[in-house]
Amino acid sequence: MPIKFPFSRRRTGPTDAWTKCPSCEQQVFNKQLERNLRVCPHCGHHFRMGIGERIELLLDEGSFVERDATLESGDPLGFSDQKPYPNRIEAAKLKTGLREAAVWGTGSIDGRRVMGSVVGEKVARCFEAALAERLPAIIVSASGGARMQEGTLSLLQLAKTTAPLVRLDEAGVPFISILTDPTTGGVLASFASLGDAIIAEPKALIGFAGARVASGTVGEELPEGFQTAEFLLEHGFVDMISPRAELRSTLSRLLRLLPVAPVEDLERGEGQHAWGPIGVLSGLAERVGGAVSETIGIKVEPDAAGSSNGDRPARSPNDAEPATTEDER
Ligand SMILES: [Zn+2]
Repeated sequence: MPIKFPFSRRRTGPTDAWTKCPSCEQQVFNKQLERNLRVCPHCGHHFRMGIGERIELLLDEGSFVERDATLESGDPLGFSDQKPYPNRIEAAKLKTGLREAAVWGTGSIDGRRVMGSVVGEKVARCFEAALAERLPAIIVSASGGARMQEGTLSLLQLAKTTAPLVRLDEAGVPFISILTDPTTGGVLASFASLGDAIIAEPKALIGFAGARVASGTVGEELPEGFQTAEFLLEHGFVDMISPRAELRSTLSRLLRLLPVAPVEDLERGEGQHAWGPIGVLSGLAERVGGAVSETIGIKVEPDAAGSSNGDRPARSPNDAEPATTEDER
């Protein structure tokens, strides 16, 4: 039986009218918080967001069609700590109203169809389907890491989710990774950091191991805030930070800039280099020139037509005639 999402921002959860912002410590009226996409109106702190709310935020209204709604976690190891693992899963289901930590399916953003998943284990299926149907893949990650209760099978997810990405890359189908608070452990160590574009929400905690463990492992003091979205942007790990209110329009722009490669190009072998990480950027820069500067904040010089640096042929009339520059002869 497919689950029903609470597709409204109103939550049925705690009845307290106020929430204390962990960042600025102001009391925020819950209704105001919901209206403001769960972003603190005082300091811009991004509170965590449920799956239904996230889908509502990013996709065209009513466009989401869930797949694999009945797929559930097993208990392959018969794992038990203070209580049996199946009991933990059951408790989590009751708490969230969701059958699984991950939900995936198709939807559209400003009319463009996409394949998307929120969190965890269903991402491999999402990538496979994106490949088969040639739809851009978008994953919103929020994860504390792999499930140790599923042992090695959980670790295998790293390989399972990463392998299809190579095929997606070769097929010229873009993958956009969205990192939200928190994106850690195995999720970050695999697909989440492999997007053609990696977008983070402001101040999101992003890291592999906890700060104390990481510091202990390398045996030195690590810089203040080294696991924040802002620090990672500064060091080139994240491509951009998008406030929640702008996330949808950012995605829409990226989907326009990173179209799925036409199959004919791939058959001619022209798509081969264009979709490596460097190829995407150089191809993008060549195709859209100055437009990129304003769109993604990277300064690029517009280039004359006919460049052969792994560029893919232009697809729209606008792209076909790049803006002319003064020094063009
Ligand atoms: Zn605040």
